[in-house]
Amino acid sequence: MRHALPLAYNPPVDFKLSPHEEAFRERLRHWLQANAPGDWAKLRSRFATLTEQIDFLKEWQRRLYEGGYIGLHWPEEYGGRGATLMEQAIFFEEMVRARAPELINVIGLDMAGPAIIHHGTEAQKKRFLPKILSAGEIWCQGFSEPNAGSDLANLQTRAVLENSDFVVSGQKVWTSYAHIARWCILLARTDPAAPRHKGLTYLLVDMRSPGMTVKPLRQMNGDAEFNELFFENVKVPSENVLGRVNDGWAVAITTLMFERGPRTLTRQLMLGQGIDAAIELARRLDSGGRKASQDPVIRQRLAQFWIDAQALRYANLRTLTRLTRGEPPGPEGSASKLFFSETWQRLLELILELQGPYAQLWEGSDRAIEGGYWQFRFLRSRGDTIAAGTSEIQRNIIAERVLGLPKD
Ligand SMILES: Cc1cc2nc3c(=O)[nH]c(=O)nc-3n(C[C@H](O)[C@H](O)[C@H](O)COP(=O)(O)OP(=O)(O)OC[C@H]3O[C@@H](n4cnc5c(N)ncnc54)[C@H](O)[C@@H]3O)c2cc1C
Repeated sequence: MRHALPLAYNPPVDFKLSPHEEAFRERLRHWLQANAPGDWAKLRSRFATLTEQIDFLKEWQRRLYEGGYIGLHWPEEYGGRGATLMEQAIFFEEMVRARAPELINVIGLDMAGPAIIHHGTEAQKKRFLPKILSAGEIWCQGFSEPNAGSDLANLQTRAVLENSDFVVSGQKVWTSYAHIARWCILLARTDPAAPRHKGLTYLLVDMRSPGMTVKPLRQMNGDAEFNELFFENVKVPSENVLGRVNDGWAVAITTLMFERGPRTLTRQLMLGQGIDAAIELARRLDSGGRKASQDPVIRQRLAQFWIDAQALRYANLRTLTRLTRGEPPGPEGSASKLFFSETWQRLLELILELQGPYAQLWEGSDRAIEGGYWQFRFLRSRGDTIAAGTSEIQRNIIAERVLGLPKD
């Protein structure tokens, strides 16, 4: 017997790309073959200074922009290309596949830009969006504070309106890219008497403002990617409020939602690259008197990672399907983030395990691959279960919003 479809029936995901999307992929693949500077894993250790590396990455984003590949999904009137979300997802896939260098203005592209598109005035859109796309101005995100991370609504940085300026005082921490950023998306408390989620305002702050101090924090991988940020009576013109005064929480939520955009697909591809590296090592290196690839336990572990990468791919496609239907990202984004960050850490542990005691060497050994790149990734991956919501917080979201368990 046939059942009538419910009215709200959505057709299942079509895994085939349209001819237009296939043509886009083909064009982009050729463009990357002709223009991508090479394997980022090998290139990134070749710069003498961080400034050189940053200049290189800015130039790379500018070239991609001029090639027509940045801001694909953004409105055309602000420098975007008005392309589909699927084309944007294809872009990230091809970038990972080409092992191309990363995009330096990631906070501008994934967070500040979309927040300005949704909540900005016409003047703000015209002023800020084109330079985000071209990497002419790098952005950072001043949300977390010493006592406000998972519990972001606890933030204490104050902004007081004096004449036509907000005067900001307080401290932020873990501010990625603040040392190279020209602008900061800042969440500050403007009404301390209001309930915690109210009375916050979202400001666009010029990092060259007097009263601002940036102190880099060195990480265990040797990089100083994030910073402490101190505000001492920093003046922010009131035209730099994004959205409405005291309604910054709504803008912050939009910002965090965009963090889980089409880039989510790249996670499964990153896993794929790591699995390829692990297989290459297992075939080349000995373990217990034979090639590691002949060890049944290692083989089993590699196979499981491949299965995990496929599971993640389908979970990510589900998210992409929701987004292309115009639905907001659902709580399954938390499952994908949690699953990726923990699987990624385990895979990197296997890559180092295969190198045995040589895993401690950054370079100079045939057991190491790609000049310490995987050592770097291993150390860097510790932050992946913290940034953008810790694993515990993701588990809380899954428990409450997916499984319907009682609230934390
Ligand atoms: C690589 C990296 C880059 C970052 N970049 C930025 C940035 O650019 N801008 C920015 O604003 N922030 C940034 N952050 C900060 C990040 O958002 C916070 O570190 C994160 O939200 C956790 O906050 P916290 O460090 O204050 O830890 P806390 O919130 O203090 O948590 C400490 C521990 O307690 C656990 N915990 C807390 N609450 C609960 C709960 N309710 N239930 C169970 N366990 C709980 C946490 O899981 C964690 O293990 C970055 C962090 C990292 C690692």
